[in-house]
Amino acid sequence: MQKIILSSSDKKILTEHAENEKPNESCAILFGKNNVVSEVFLTKNVEESPTNFTISNEQLIEGYKIAEEKKVDVIGIFHSHPNSEAYPSNTDKKFMQSNPVVWIIYSGATKDFRAYLLESEIKEIAVEEK
Ligand SMILES: [Zn+2]
Repeated sequence: MQKIILSSSDKKILTEHAENEKPNESCAILFGKNNVVSEVFLTKNVEESPTNFTISNEQLIEGYKIAEEKKVDVIGIFHSHPNSEAYPSNTDKKFMQSNPVVWIIYSGATKDFRAYLLESEIKEIAVEEK
């Protein structure tokens, strides 16, 4: 998978979520099939931190349950960096190993969406609009 497709309406939902959660990081679970995001599930950053995020186990389980009901997959995890660039932090890199889906990061500083995938190493993939 070299890219992920994110619609402009889902981008808008995620951007607003990121702006609303400032100064803290925001997070969400991305549903879809293959490399196409079909729906976003906004979650709470239980750390309430401007530099880290954690989705509670309850919301993760809820997310997987919704995905199953809707017959879609959990294809990505979204979070925002309110004040820094959309590049994975060391903590992000560590958690990417236990959550090997596409990671989309939104930068509140540059208003950019970027996506990453961990293979043998972390590589950036394209974010395309539908
Ligand atoms: Zn991060």
